[in-house]
Amino acid sequence: MARTIGAPRGTRDLLPEATPAWDRVEAVARDLSRRYAFERVETPLFEQTDLFARGLGESSDAVEKEMFRVAGAKGSDEEAAPWALRPEPTAGIVRAFIEHGMHVRPGPLRLTLIGPMFRYDRPQAGRYRQFSQWDVEVIGDAGPAVDAELIELGQRFFTDVGLTDVVAHVNSIGDATCRPGYRDALIAYFAAQEERLSEDSRRRLRVNPLRVLDDKDLAPDLAAGAPRGVDHLCDECRAHFDGVRSLLDALGVRYEVDHRLVRGLDYYTRTAFEFYIAGREGQQQALGGGGRYDGLVELLGGRPTPGIGFGIGLDRTVLAMEEQGTMLPPQPALVAVLGASEDQARRLRVASALRDAGLAVRPDGSSRKLGKQLESGAKAGARWAVIVGDGDALALKDLASGEQRDQISLEDVVSAVSG
Ligand code: AMP
Repeated sequence: MARTIGAPRGTRDLLPEATPAWDRVEAVARDLSRRYAFERVETPLFEQTDLFARGLGESSDAVEKEMFRVAGAKGSDEEAAPWALRPEPTAGIVRAFIEHGMHVRPGPLRLTLIGPMFRYDRPQAGRYRQFSQWDVEVIGDAGPAVDAELIELGQRFFTDVGLTDVVAHVNSIGDATCRPGYRDALIAYFAAQEERLSEDSRRRLRVNPLRVLDDKDLAPDLAAGAPRGVDHLCDECRAHFDGVRSLLDALGVRYEVDHRLVRGLDYYTRTAFEFYIAGREGQQQALGGGGRYDGLVELLGGRPTPGIGFGIGLDRTVLAMEEQGTMLPPQPALVAVLGASEDQARRLRVASALRDAGLAVRPDGSSRKLGKQLESGAKAGARWAVIVGDGDALALKDLASGEQRDQISLEDVVSAVSG
């Protein structure tokens, strides 16, 4: 026998029993996108590596350690092409915004996509090399109302998929005016205790000191005593953050200010937020996160335009639903169409007519005995069996109770099954 080939490490197959939960989270995401007036966009799954290096920052984990590189075909000019699978969607969306001159459209633009992201990370529970996100972006709105609106939207998503106890963590990491001062304060504080930092943090300290704060190995007392972003905000950033918080209060959003929340990517300014199940707030536990990126459009070559967005991880959302035993809406009842005669065309015609009425139908094309057909219909999850005989009339069997009605019309089948 030939050697079998497995799925690549860090990827998963979603088998039929797993997909109803995914259908649910995607349906909720699409419905909320519609109700919050987001328009769908799609961008390529791979982009030039430079886009991510420039947009996300060379020192971000996504670029420094986890970039999933793509080469062109062997022998082609692109063999060593500097492409990478997208680790997150914002850079690609902003690239498209600039490339297509979307700034001339009536703004602010509200864009959304659902799709796979790729990070070449060490796989573990809740951390995959391919995972999916629901992403929303608002480009051209300086906030703070839109910041609160997006945090409320994220909260509503988790409520609507049936999760309980989700709390938003929010912070402000300042802007180009006040962040340098905050960075200096962090460098001074951590440099004085450099020997207590992890190797990663020591390396990052002078390049990106904010990242030291979200190092999972940072000693709790060092973290607790660290300078806080909110104490270093300039007047404008402070007013913005106060505005976001009072709007969140007014909307009744469950949130807490998290001084260690800095987000991993360089492009964030001011508002940063993440969603967690209360009490499950460690690294790798975030269900989603986002923030404001007022400098990103300009950094990628466009005109200065504010922006804000979030990415919610659908894999972790589904995992959390499994952990909480979240109920899914019932699937529509499946109808098996079976044949007491050899007339295949009649079976398929009946199946087709039932589908016209909106029912989910699984015809049995075999010439097995009716008893066998009933058995396999029930095993396949059918709730009803419609038995096609020689004449026009049908029989309807309730596979749960075993009750059977003979000599019944197609219309009566439809109303019995739909009712
Ligand atoms: P991030 O931009 O890293 O905060 O990612 C946003 C969300 O995507 C996270 O809160 C996770 O839910 C999800 N996510 C990020 N990386 C992974 C991964 N490697 N595997 C599964 N989900 C992930």
